[in-house]
Amino acid sequence: MVTDPNEPKSKNNRKKVKLMRDNIIVIGGGLAGCEAAYQIAKRKIKVKLYEMKPKKYSPAHHNSNLAEIVCSNSFKSNLLTNACGLLKEELRRLDSLLIQIADETKVPAGQALAVDREFFSEMVTKKINENPYIEVINQEVTNVKDLLKDGIVIIATGPLTSDGLASQIQELTGQDKLYFYDAAAPILEKDSINFGIAFYGDRYHQEKKKQETKEQWKQRLLQQTKEEQSYINLPMNQQQYEHFCKELVKAEVVTLHEFEKREIFEGCMPVEIMASRGIDTLRFGPLKPVGFDDPRTAKRPYAIVQLRQDDKKASLYNMVGFQTNLKYGEQKRIFSMIPGMEQAEFVKYGVMHRNTYINSSQLLNQNYQLKNIPNLYFAGQITGVEGYVESISSGLVAALSASMHFKGKELPKSYFSENTIIGTLAKYISTPNDKFQPMNANFGILPELEGKKIKDKKERYTKLANRSLEDLLQINN
Ligand SMILES: Cc1cc2nc3c(=O)[nH]c(=O)nc-3n(C[C@H](O)[C@H](O)[C@H](O)COP(=O)(O)OP(=O)(O)OC[C@H]3O[C@@H](n4cnc5c(N)ncnc54)[C@H](O)[C@@H]3O)c2cc1C
Repeated sequence: MVTDPNEPKSKNNRKKVKLMRDNIIVIGGGLAGCEAAYQIAKRKIKVKLYEMKPKKYSPAHHNSNLAEIVCSNSFKSNLLTNACGLLKEELRRLDSLLIQIADETKVPAGQALAVDREFFSEMVTKKINENPYIEVINQEVTNVKDLLKDGIVIIATGPLTSDGLASQIQELTGQDKLYFYDAAAPILEKDSINFGIAFYGDRYHQEKKKQETKEQWKQRLLQQTKEEQSYINLPMNQQQYEHFCKELVKAEVVTLHEFEKREIFEGCMPVEIMASRGIDTLRFGPLKPVGFDDPRTAKRPYAIVQLRQDDKKASLYNMVGFQTNLKYGEQKRIFSMIPGMEQAEFVKYGVMHRNTYINSSQLLNQNYQLKNIPNLYFAGQITGVEGYVESISSGLVAALSASMHFKGKELPKSYFSENTIIGTLAKYISTPNDKFQPMNANFGILPELEGKKIKDKKERYTKLANRSLEDLLQINN
């Protein structure tokens, strides 16, 4: 379902906020902020874009241009059978300025879209500066409350939002709703796990075994209830465990910035550091087998890797206790050594870096609008979307929503169909979730296809991509 953005004027938002200003303010000239500014300007609305550089730099930004790419120069795959590839195609069709410039500044990278980062930022800066509707103001914003008094504001200050503004965001959203780092374990698709090895059950349910006969116990494990399926267990014998630990401590890690080391390690220990403290550390920690018997052998395994259900559909599972700082390629290589995970498809790798983000699952609606302050929107990584392309996509949605709001039109509940990656990401971040964690584009968060599940992944992803692009055709952009 796509909502027509040209629907009749509403009484709704106009009533809530007196919009006296003739412009929309965007704070942060990064990927999300630049896309937002362009989309608003395209709708013939003036924009004031505040960017603190070059007067002030975050610890990871070094270049005076807008839309600086802080790390890898890759915008990931271009294939439609890859969720980030599909998201890029959706954005192309929605006239995203930043994806257009990424295409124009690309460097050879096989099926991926990688950019010449300097050229990319230069081009974005040029396009934004020459747009007659956009005024760039090089100033750090610390007082957003004043800007909100008579107009609409989009905050797109990214994972390294300056401290002054972060404390005001905390004040506006509630002390406990702003997170300062992201220490997340990898998430994988359940369908890629080998259930010839894996078995369902949590410690509590396994403990019941003590009161059952062997036959009763086997029967129960075979007829697991949904609740019991919230954990998947991957048993390891001694040899497998020791080999895994030895490889884990040798694997390549991402180099953290000094500021990240201080903030992250105080709060959370990466699995590879735990493993380096001694061969038994993991098996007495997150890999402890206590309370489990392998239903195939009826014996307690030497160690167990647990996967915990991560989404309502139970299609995604996260690796319990596996917050890690390994490089992505290394995560795939090392974690695929875990018995049952040989063919694991990771929808998200573990990360540990400074990442300021709000608890959007409680605070925002699907238009990236703050529920309790309707003239305040958020966009980019600060909303809990993760990655360059995802940040651009949220900038586009926030801008379309804010533009309609500015023109006094009623905002649809959901701007884009949930069958699109752009729409499903907006839904994901705004759906109540006690364990809210940032999310990147992946097929696991899309609604299932109708009918019987298609086993062949390429065929299934192709169908999901076609469904998304068909839905997108209906939008009157
Ligand atoms: C160290 C690090 C490495 C990363 N590596 C990758 C990667 O390899 N791949 C990937 O996809 N993603 C990576 N990310 C995530 C990446 O930052 C985001 O995907 C993307 O840059 C987010 O876009 P954004 O517009 O939300 O924020 P940004 O691109 O960071 O833009 C925010 C802008 O706001 C400005 N700003 C901040 N505070 C204020 C203020 N108070 N007033 C005015 N301006 C302000 C900043 O100067 C900046 O220009 C990384 C993040 C970090 C921190």
